[in-house]
Amino acid sequence: AFVVTENCIKCKYTDCVSVCPADAFFEGPNFLAISPIDCIDCGLCVPECSADAIYQEDELPESQKEFTELNAELALVWPRITEVKPAPEDADVWNGIDDKLKLLET
Ligand code: SF4
Repeated sequence: AFVVTENCIKCKYTDCVSVCPADAFFEGPNFLAISPIDCIDCGLCVPECSADAIYQEDELPESQKEFTELNAELALVWPRITEVKPAPEDADVWNGIDDKLKLLET
């Protein structure tokens, strides 16, 4: 499956959800998660992400490996999102900031 990683936190542009043929995205307060049950590994979401936050599971940077489990867990409890919505006003400010995991709201 594909995995949403740390740089989505507080960016959450949501462009990815409009191209997903499997409706595999789930939405939390400041992050999106992909359900590994629903994802069909098409890769269409990757170029849509302005935060470059989506990776194929096998190509995750070492520092992002914990996001595999996190996506699976959060997709089970968050509501599905299928339509683009406006990003947070300060999304561009947070794009590329390191060490955002501690800011993840669940
Ligand atoms: Fe959806 Fe394809 Fe991205 Fe999986 S890889 S989340 S199926 S767009």
